[in-house]
Amino acid sequence: TRSPVTVTVTGAAGQIGYALLFRIASGQLIGPDTPINLRLLEIPQAVKAAEGTAMELTDCAFPLLRSIEVTDDTRRAFEGTNIALLVGARPRTQGMERGDLLEANGGIFKPQGEAINANAADDVRVLVVGNPANTNALIAQAHAPDVPAERFTAMTRLDHNRALAQLAIKLGVGVDEIRRLAIWGNHSATQYPDLFHAEVGGKIAAEQVERQWMSDEFIPTVAKRGAAIIEARGASSAASAANAAIDHVHTWVNGTAEGDWTSAGVVSDGSYGVPEGLISSFPVTARDGRYEIVRGLDIDEFSRPRIDASVQELVDERETVRGLGLV
Ligand code: NDP
Repeated sequence: TRSPVTVTVTGAAGQIGYALLFRIASGQLIGPDTPINLRLLEIPQAVKAAEGTAMELTDCAFPLLRSIEVTDDTRRAFEGTNIALLVGARPRTQGMERGDLLEANGGIFKPQGEAINANAADDVRVLVVGNPANTNALIAQAHAPDVPAERFTAMTRLDHNRALAQLAIKLGVGVDEIRRLAIWGNHSATQYPDLFHAEVGGKIAAEQVERQWMSDEFIPTVAKRGAAIIEARGASSAASAANAAIDHVHTWVNGTAEGDWTSAGVVSDGSYGVPEGLISSFPVTARDGRYEIVRGLDIDEFSRPRIDASVQELVDERETVRGLGLV
């Protein structure tokens, strides 16, 4: 066994938290021989519920689970943290403007960024799941000047997985036969799932489907899947979101397969016309514990305006949080 890893989960009493924690504790986040110390952060009124989940985690007698601590103290929650999963966020309520939502989330992600900066382990890696994930990640990152910016990421892996599954169904292949799919931009309805570099059976996926299916079915199905699940299930997607969070961190730590890539919201270095500093989804490889943007792809005429529109939304969100003094 290796040395233990401290994993902090915020919003631990929420429904994603409930689907996530048992998988972390069973060893699926990092690997089967890394012991886990869990820290669960909740707001005071949800601490009791999180303690209930902690009791169940104890009752699983997971061999790798070394400790569980529940707290409502942000500073304590991130003390010595190696992996921070920021799941808790302020949900959009009816009649709430986007600016209000970003402001409310600023009140959560600014202190969390500060606490990570002050207390986390030197190798801390942060994944933001709570929406609006890209801009929440930007806010946290802006308040952690001593942590390399690349350690702050936002989750678009669920969008990636949804796109893989829809394409596999369309072509009648297994998801394991698809390589090099990519989600670009914001984790929102404007996101762009790109099939022009994706390969199925060694051939480009975009050439194996009709253009109209791509624009009228595939892209909207992937982008609006969250709403479709709420409609069907009567509750938002939780297990699939938790699964994607596990995938995101597992890949970050263990790497992508040779010749393949995945999708993650990472800090832009200006590649592909995405303004530097924005946290945008890109095709990424992972190696030696680092996500790297895939370089040198040609962006075709179908993709360019779609990527630009999603990136513009990120620019607008950054302007809004700048106006609020949050970044
Ligand atoms: P969930 O666990 O269902 O969701 C948590 C966050 O994940 C939301 O912001 C949600 O965004 C987001 N999310 C991202 N991707 C997805 C997806 N594919 N499907 C669904 N959600 C997604 O919310 P709950 O309300 O059940 O739980 C939230 C918990 O967070 C509560 O227990 C609350 O007390 C806690 N909280 C903790 C804080 C802290 O620790 N400091 C701060 C704020 C809240 P969206 O709603 O837009 O779908």
